[in-house]
Amino acid sequence: MTMENEQQGMQQDQVAQQDVMGQLKKIRSSLRALQDAVILLNDDDSLEWWNQAAEDLLLLQSNDKGKCIFDFITVPEFRQYYQSMTKPNDGVHMASWRDPKRYLKCELTPFGDEKLLIIYDVTRLHHLEQMRRDFVANVSHELRTPLTVMMGYLENFSGQPDMPPHWQRGFELMTQQTARMNRIVNDLLLLSRIEIEETHELHYIDMTKLLTHIYDDAQAYNTEYNHSIHLQIDTYDGLYGSEMYLNSALSNLVINAIKYTPKGGNITISWARTSDGCQFSVEDDGIGIEPQHIARLTERFYRIDKGRSRATGGTGLGLAIVKHVLYQYDANLQIESTEGKGSTFSAVFPISHVRTAAPL
Ligand code: ADP
Repeated sequence: MTMENEQQGMQQDQVAQQDVMGQLKKIRSSLRALQDAVILLNDDDSLEWWNQAAEDLLLLQSNDKGKCIFDFITVPEFRQYYQSMTKPNDGVHMASWRDPKRYLKCELTPFGDEKLLIIYDVTRLHHLEQMRRDFVANVSHELRTPLTVMMGYLENFSGQPDMPPHWQRGFELMTQQTARMNRIVNDLLLLSRIEIEETHELHYIDMTKLLTHIYDDAQAYNTEYNHSIHLQIDTYDGLYGSEMYLNSALSNLVINAIKYTPKGGNITISWARTSDGCQFSVEDDGIGIEPQHIARLTERFYRIDKGRSRATGGTGLGLAIVKHVLYQYDANLQIESTEGKGSTFSAVFPISHVRTAAPL
């Protein structure tokens, strides 16, 4: 290589380096201008870099570089999220430690050897969400009394010998639809309660007992379907949580397996230990689900076939209830399905919620 070429190469390198530096500067100044707090953390959880919004929120000063993030954010939920990272994509929501009327969302993302912490102000979103919850809970609650009165009268009228025959069909439809409305109102109220009571007392749940109870109820529901239902319990391990809500969630999955399987099918309910915790699953050889529906099934009122869901007494809220209940156990609903072949709905409960059975 000639001297001239070498000089040209060096100049090109310099230009490229200046370009990178220029871009880095631009990135930093845009991050600095962001309304959300952005903090770069070293792998020992110490502060490396932050923007203006982070400085204002955490009252940071230039000599705080190298100090531990937990010296500035002392909220237990944050520490728990940071250390376990069980819900990395959802982040953690919490009331601001400086102003309890403000709500924050922290999201941590691995960034090479470092971590990027972004803190969003979600106060407005939080209030809107709260208004939505209150509205749904209030409407459901208000509908309860008129519905109870209507159902009471309908029951009194049923079997009246002097009812004109041309009223009969209308009367049957009224009875069916009020019963349906009652199921929807009850499911909405259950959903509201689960959402509101995010942290309730944890009780020991004997899963063998609970699943046997769910299995007995399933057999009673099964009379018109005539499926073979199997209960397979491979561990005596139990859980810590709220039995009432867990019962609703797991029963929903079992009843769905019965409803969405043509008569004479096979259903297996199982409970087993895995390397990560304990797994509950319900497997059926029913109608199955086309792949494009799977991700949306836990949305409220999402039904693949509305007619079928109604005919079997569905409200379209069952899987939304399941998702919310499992969330309280840090468990996710997994759905595997092949259209025409069947489905498996399962959830792994992490060790933190498992109570290991004493050895026999
Ligand atoms: P629904 O009250 O309609 O049963 P869910 O929320 O429990 O409401 O379920 C939502 C939809 O998911 C159902 O309408 C049905 O289309 C589908 N689904 C749920 N479980 C199964 C299953 N085991 N097999 C096939 N489809 C199912």
